[in-house]
Amino acid sequence: MTEYAPRNTPLEQLAQLETEALQALEQVQTPEDLDRWYHTYLGRKGALTAILRSVGSLPPEERPAVGGRANEAKRRLEAAYDARAEAVRQAQLARELEAGAIDVTLPGRPVGPGHLHITTRTLRQIYAIFAEMGFQVYEARDVETDEMNFGLLNMPPHHPAREMWDTFWITDEVLLRTHTSPGQIRVMRERYPEPIRVILPGKCYRYEQITARSEHQFFQVEGLAVGRHITMTDLIGTLTAFARRFYGAERRIRIRGSYFPFTEPSIEADIDCILCGGKGCRVCKYSGWLEIAGAGMVHPVVLANGGYDPNEWSGFAFGLGVERPAMLKYGIDDIRLFYGNDLRFLQQFG
Ligand SMILES: [Zn+2]
Repeated sequence: MTEYAPRNTPLEQLAQLETEALQALEQVQTPEDLDRWYHTYLGRKGALTAILRSVGSLPPEERPAVGGRANEAKRRLEAAYDARAEAVRQAQLARELEAGAIDVTLPGRPVGPGHLHITTRTLRQIYAIFAEMGFQVYEARDVETDEMNFGLLNMPPHHPAREMWDTFWITDEVLLRTHTSPGQIRVMRERYPEPIRVILPGKCYRYEQITARSEHQFFQVEGLAVGRHITMTDLIGTLTAFARRFYGAERRIRIRGSYFPFTEPSIEADIDCILCGGKGCRVCKYSGWLEIAGAGMVHPVVLANGGYDPNEWSGFAFGLGVERPAMLKYGIDDIRLFYGNDLRFLQQFG
């Protein structure tokens, strides 16, 4: 290191030091050189640090100028050091690559991307199809009152139709909804007097034996349209459009009379079996048809409970499964797989 002649002023010393340090830095090639350079100039015992420390012993009138210049030199040297350190790092990497220490042809460690659960995927397909027909998604609650789940849907206490649903009761008045239909009352009371076109997706719960064909929790998508001139033809057209979009454009649809307490008249919709095309197979129990929806015109009592005068308004409602259609579409033979969280099953639908 250069000896600084006493005749040099502190400002001259600083300028000389900075020039020398920057020249020395250009010679630095290795991480070891870099460390050595840092200790010489910027480290705790470095030359610049010594000058900074000595500022306090200068005559007071010289201190601001020398202190400012020293700090300026420090900033420049630190920036130059950072740039050189990066260059040394890159050069080192290039040398290692050249030496074959890093095999760039090795495949990376695979990062498994997540994907949607098959139920979510099916739900989203259903949303998209109904969205194109102008249906909004309305989410209602899972925990319901007896009144919403049964009473306002035309099933007063002791109505025999309550037997159609085995129920998980929380208290005498509160239950886990057995179907998505209570959402009909909620959406009507919220939207009145606007016309309504919504789908109500959600989980339903039934106190049932779990088998390959039935679970105690499952998804449903309810549909509800309320307006001034809605007819059964609109309902059948909507279900047909859905079936052809979801199951294939060549599907045929069949309508049968049925019974639900909250629709009048009530129907069930079938499609020709997607597996055998209607010839008859195990899946369609040799009937050639598969049920896809229960539906009907909203019962006048239910319309009135929702706040819509049945003399002015009419509506249709339908209920679709979600797991069953997915089972048909993907050839899944056990509904329990949907809730089993077995990755071997789930990963097939990535
Ligand atoms: Zn069949």
